[in-house]
Amino acid sequence: MATTEKPREETARKAEMSNLDIVRYYYDRAVDRLELPDDLRTVFWSSYREVTVQIPVKLSDGKTHTFSGYRIQHNGARGPYKGGIRYHPEVDIDEVRALASLMTWKTAVANLPFGGAKGGVNAPAGDLARSEIQAITRSFMNKIEKILGPTRDIPAPDVNTDAQVMAWMMDEYGKLHGHTPAICTGKPIALEGSYGREQATGRGCVYMFREAAPQVGLTPAEATFVVQGYGNVGSWAARIMQQLGARMVGVSDATGAIRSDAGIDADDLAAHIGDGGKLTEFPGAEVISPDDLLAIECDVLIPAALGGMIHEGNADRINCRMVIEGANSPTTPRADQVLHDKGVHVIPDVMANAGGVVASYFEWVQNMQHFRWSEREVNDKLGGVMRKAYRDVSARAKEETLSLRDGAYTLGVERVVEASRARGYV
Ligand code: GLU
Repeated sequence: MATTEKPREETARKAEMSNLDIVRYYYDRAVDRLELPDDLRTVFWSSYREVTVQIPVKLSDGKTHTFSGYRIQHNGARGPYKGGIRYHPEVDIDEVRALASLMTWKTAVANLPFGGAKGGVNAPAGDLARSEIQAITRSFMNKIEKILGPTRDIPAPDVNTDAQVMAWMMDEYGKLHGHTPAICTGKPIALEGSYGREQATGRGCVYMFREAAPQVGLTPAEATFVVQGYGNVGSWAARIMQQLGARMVGVSDATGAIRSDAGIDADDLAAHIGDGGKLTEFPGAEVISPDDLLAIECDVLIPAALGGMIHEGNADRINCRMVIEGANSPTTPRADQVLHDKGVHVIPDVMANAGGVVASYFEWVQNMQHFRWSEREVNDKLGGVMRKAYRDVSARAKEETLSLRDGAYTLGVERVVEASRARGYV
C-alpha cells in the first residue's frame, strides 16, 4: 500500500489531545477572531451528515470480523463533499469528524469548489491480504454509496488506501450506477486517474517550501530535511525536495528511524522499501530511536505520518527552522506554541498538504469532461494553486499579525461562512 503508517504508540505518539480536540482548538480561535456568534460557531463545527456502517468480512483465519466504517460529510456550502478514506485500527467516529472538518477548511484555503468530508474503516490494513482489503472496500462502498456521487461526495485515498482501493470503489459504484469515474479521485492511470495525483501531496509540500524558503533565509539547494513517515506523502516530498538539491538527513516509518549527515538518497530508499526492504535495513545509515528523529538538527522537518505526533512531550527537542505538515493535525496546540516560541516557521496542514486534494480536484474536472491533461499541465496548475494559497494565507497572517495556522483557519472559516450566507443558510 502506498501510505502505510502504523502507529508506534510506545514512541512518538503520546499526544495530550485527540485529533478532534486539536482541530476544535484551532477552529475556535478562528471563530473568535471572526467574532462569529455562538449559534454559528455550532453550525460550522457540526457535521452535516454522519453515516456509520457495519462491515462484516470473513478473513483468512476463517472468522467473520466486524469492522466499523464511517463517512462523515462536514460542510458542503462551497461544493460537493470531498475527502479521503483511511483504513487504520484506531479509526473512530471522532477522528473522522476531526478530519472531515479539516477538509472543509483545507478546500476553502485552496479555494476549491468543494466542501469537506472524510471516511474511515477501523481495519488493520497493514496486517491484511489484498483480497481482504478488496472485500472490505467493496462492502464499505456498497453501504455508503447512497450518500456519494460525483456532484455529492467524492472520496479519495488517505492513510493505508491507494489507487487500487479507489479502483475497487469505482468498480463497485459502477455496478449500481454505471461507469462513473468522477465518483472518486486518486484512481490508477489505467482507470481515468490523473497524471501527477499520486505525487501531488508531497509535491504540494515542496511548492510550499519554495514559497517559504526565502522568508526564512533558506536556499533549497543547500537545505537539509527530516521526514517522519515514509509513506506516499513523505516519500514523494523527499524525492522532490532532493530534486531541488536538498539533503535528507533523517527519516522514519512504522518500522523505525535512520539518520545520516551525509544524506539518505530518497529515491533509493523508496526503491528499497518498494522491493520489500525494511527502512532500518537501508545501507549506509545509522539506526536511531524514533524519539530521537525529531531532535536531529536540520532546516526542514516534514511530519508525514499520523495526527498528534508533535506534542508537548517532544516539541522542545525539535531542532529545525521550518515545519511542513504533510500529515493531518500532526501538531498539538501546546507543541505549536513551543515551536512558535522557538521561532520555527510552521506551514500548517490545511495549506501544506492541500496538494493532494488540489490534484484530486483536477482529476475530477478531467473525469467530468472525459478528458486528460499531461503531467506537466497538472504540476503547473498545482503549483499555481499552492502558491496562491500560501500568498493568500501569508497576506492574511501579516495583516492581522497571526501565525500561518491562525491565518489559514481564519481564511478557511471565513470563506465557508461567506458561501453559506450567499446560499441563505445562515
Ligand atoms: N486524503 C487527502 C487529504 O487529507 C486527499 C483528499 C482528497 O483528495 O479528496 O487531503
